[in-house]
Amino acid sequence: MLTTMSIKNAYLLSVLDDLKKKSAHEPEFLQAVEEVLESLEPVVAADPRYEQQNIIGRIVEPERVVMFRVPWVDDSGKVQVNRGFRVQFNSAIGPYKGGLRFHPTVNLSVIKFLGFEQVFKNSLTTLPMGGGKGGSDFDPKGKSDGEVMRFCQSFMTELQRHIGPDTDVPAGDIGVGAREIGFLFGQYKRIRDEFTGVLTGKGLTYGGSLARTEATGFGLCYFADACLRDNGQSFQGKKVVISGSGNVAIYANQKVNQLGAKVIAMSDSNGYIVDENGIDYKILKEIKEVKRARIKTYLDYVPSAKYVEGCSGIWTVPCDIALPCATQNEINGESAKALIANGCKGVFEGANMPSTPEAISAYLEAGIFFGPAKAANAGGVATSGLEMSQNSERLSWTFEEVDAKLKGIMEGIYAACAAAAEKFGMKGNLQAGANIAGFLKVADAMLWQGIC
Ligand code: NDP
Repeated sequence: MLTTMSIKNAYLLSVLDDLKKKSAHEPEFLQAVEEVLESLEPVVAADPRYEQQNIIGRIVEPERVVMFRVPWVDDSGKVQVNRGFRVQFNSAIGPYKGGLRFHPTVNLSVIKFLGFEQVFKNSLTTLPMGGGKGGSDFDPKGKSDGEVMRFCQSFMTELQRHIGPDTDVPAGDIGVGAREIGFLFGQYKRIRDEFTGVLTGKGLTYGGSLARTEATGFGLCYFADACLRDNGQSFQGKKVVISGSGNVAIYANQKVNQLGAKVIAMSDSNGYIVDENGIDYKILKEIKEVKRARIKTYLDYVPSAKYVEGCSGIWTVPCDIALPCATQNEINGESAKALIANGCKGVFEGANMPSTPEAISAYLEAGIFFGPAKAANAGGVATSGLEMSQNSERLSWTFEEVDAKLKGIMEGIYAACAAAAEKFGMKGNLQAGANIAGFLKVADAMLWQGIC
């Protein structure tokens, strides 16, 4: 349930009230906007230009929303139809950039919340990228490669008119991995007759960047590590719980291990596994990336591990650090309290908006470390930005070069969030710091560019 109780500024309240009327059926979008506006109170109070130029009223409105029909033929010859979306949210600091999500829960509210978050996240990376997001309610799970290809070709047949290397550069997200990006890229090239860096997350043989696959999970751990070290701690010897077992979760597990901690629980949407000896990410990679099987299969490899049906119980597993890497609103107030009661000292978000407002209040009240998604999971899009640079240069950098740049960017994001929070009187509040630091650059560019 959304509440405007904590926003006091009359201008911010009027923007939010207006948006609630216009977007009454978009709860995820309103949740994401409210979370940002709460942090911006001292910023708006400090500089009257944001109200005079109605920057907040403009920043919550996408520049363009495209919604389209995606017809395709399944293996039995039946004609199926899905809904496609691209929300081009803000291009003040660069071409729109943000992933595509293929999942049955996708709707306009979900894509708008993701696009809105992306604006601030991309700004935090310091790279010249605006914010956008897209996707479809198509579910790749259980579909044959042929069906996925036909769907992707139909989706791109429409999307290609709205994107381009200097206009809008989509990437992957839930349900859109290497296979889907390949099919989408192939269709774009075929229709437009150009080989350009129009999508990121491409395969290494056709313009992809080394370390892009690992980037979001690795980046999440670099961010968490920077926070722990800044507070005289480290990952060494810690127990970590990670939700999800997709792209972000798998590589977060790998980096957690490299940093001297172990991951004792992971999940998919059916259930979770617990392995007190540490979940082996190589086994997980085989299960998820090669076999495309359920996480329960882990028990065939490690019979001493435990499997529990239902995914939300994972937050009752005692741990030092939690890395939610599955989906939005997966940690509610109750789960957050269970984590804290069991000794959790930090939550760093790999997924987008995985914590409900009640969960975030619980973290802040308990004073545990909280790394919000738009800062902590920015490593994926940052490395997509590096892929765009390599494509423009017609060069490819080594894994070590990209990884080193990623680490530097994540440490820089942590420092920027911590500094912004301190400057506006909220020392240690990385959520407020991320929103403020992300906002200032975009808002400044909007001020320079006039009313548009
Ligand atoms: P994947 O599709 O690779 O994996 C998603 C994982 O989350 C799967 O294990 C999936 O389980 C699980 N999951 C999905 N929906 C639910 C649900 N409703 N309840 C419980 N579990 C669920 O996606 P990614 O790893 O790429 O993305 C995960 C999160 O990270 C998303 O929030 C995404 O927006 C965010 N993110 C991803 C980036 C990237 O580079 N990939 C960049 C920044 C953020 P199952 O297989 O059972 O569906």
